Amino acid sequence: MPSRKKPGSVLIIGSEAVPFAKTGGLADVLGTLPQALARLGWDVTLALPRYRGVDEGSLAARFPLTVGGYTREVGIFEVSLAGGSRAWLVDCPDVFDREGIYGPGGGEYSDNPRRFAMLVRAALEFAALRGARPSVVHAHDWQAGLAPVYLKTRYATHSVLGGIPSVFTIHNLAYQGLFDADWLPRLDLGWDLFSIDRLEYWGRISLLKGGINEAEVVTAVSPRYAEEIQTPEFGFGFDGILRRRRADLAGVLNGIDVERWDPEHDPFLPRPYSADDLSGKDSAKAEVLVRYRLATDGATLKRPLVAMISRMIDQKGFDLMAALADELPRLEATFIVLGTGETRYQDLWTGLAARHPDRIGAHIGFDEALAHLIEAGADIFLMPSRFEPCGLSQMYSLRYGTVPVVRAVGGLADTVVDYAPSRRFGGASSSGHKKSTGFVFQEYTPQGVLEALNRALALYADPKRWKALQRAGMAQDHSWDRSAREYVRIYERAIKKGFGIRDSGFGVRG
Ligand code: ADP
Repeated sequence: MPSRKKPGSVLIIGSEAVPFAKTGGLADVLGTLPQALARLGWDVTLALPRYRGVDEGSLAARFPLTVGGYTREVGIFEVSLAGGSRAWLVDCPDVFDREGIYGPGGGEYSDNPRRFAMLVRAALEFAALRGARPSVVHAHDWQAGLAPVYLKTRYATHSVLGGIPSVFTIHNLAYQGLFDADWLPRLDLGWDLFSIDRLEYWGRISLLKGGINEAEVVTAVSPRYAEEIQTPEFGFGFDGILRRRRADLAGVLNGIDVERWDPEHDPFLPRPYSADDLSGKDSAKAEVLVRYRLATDGATLKRPLVAMISRMIDQKGFDLMAALADELPRLEATFIVLGTGETRYQDLWTGLAARHPDRIGAHIGFDEALAHLIEAGADIFLMPSRFEPCGLSQMYSLRYGTVPVVRAVGGLADTVVDYAPSRRFGGASSSGHKKSTGFVFQEYTPQGVLEALNRALALYADPKRWKALQRAGMAQDHSWDRSAREYVRIYERAIKKGFGIRDSGFGVRG
């Protein structure tokens, strides 16, 4: 149901968005949410930095911007997005025209607080210059955490920006935007913010904490993650901060871009396919094997192909996979990985591929086209994450008929239903159970992964049941429209709160 209320306007602020810049799932979200909101009638502006290599847009304005005594002329390049929304690319070469997005070679630039303060301030001040007061500001992750902070401080009584409510979304609590406290004056912020219920965090400041504490409403990217982050196990020291805000904390599952990720119309596949005719999937598998220089004989084609596409870090379970390194070549499966990350994991996988060229393939790098081909060509997609705020890849896998094997955390738990022989998964579920769509394990141990993987490999040997499982996954709807409707409800709630109207809150359990 579309919202009955009159749609408003939202200024979305974040550090990456497809097609302009991407290192992870945040970019997919910010690349798709604007269009989905626009379809619901909202007027959407997305603000992000104009990094090196981003050439789109036409110059809408140039104006001087000063943050903590640092003055630069900034430009706003405007790009029209599908559905009538627009992007504002903030041009400030001294801070954004650099080799990396966040830092050189996966590191951090020492002036990141200033860089992202420039983003936030340029977006808000350009909105003010235009007289285009958004009904709500939606800030994402620590890089935009200063948006709620500035709205509550510097712009609280501003003639255009004063009183605009904000929503802050946590995509990954592991990244907390921690900096030395002496950044406060350099960000035009008073020392009164250096307190435990504002930005202070163990003697430093956290821009993530600023976003959490100063926004009207806080969201996390899946319902399960919204609960998990209130516990010490998943809270990264922020569980108390989040419990304090639990009445205003909601989980909204990310959607996926069902047009870019559609096996029936994916330009990166040798042949399109659908749930009715999966034969194109075999062509993709053959192509993947070629790309990984693996054999394409009948036996290899028949053997299940298990894939990981991921940042190669502990969060994603690469330590568990390292513990299983000797075990993998013994399994009746072929393994491939696509990713970049910690050197030790890159080396481990390239070493494994060199030692077992018939069973294991490794591609170190970021390759969007190959990611599409793998999602189609693999039989099993493995995500043994330690924690997973939402995860997008498993949703792509479901849509591509590639059976996910995942750990029961965050968005993985919210999107994949464990296969149980007793549970009907092919047709309608008469018992009210959700249909099985993959394999789920609980314990973060090598045995946990292995057990789930072995269950998957065993079922693969039963083509009829396997196909039913694939089709159950392909029938799921993970489009953005549902999530966008939830965000609209959240925006409306933030707007009400901004007017001082109280309600009973979301009350996500801690
Ligand atoms: P995260 O945001 O934590 O990295 P997600 O599953 O939410 O994890 O999103 C990861 C996104 O990045 C997916 O779209 C996935 O396909 C993509 N991705 C990750 N690594 C690579 C890579 N090496 N090459 C291409 N795409 C990648």
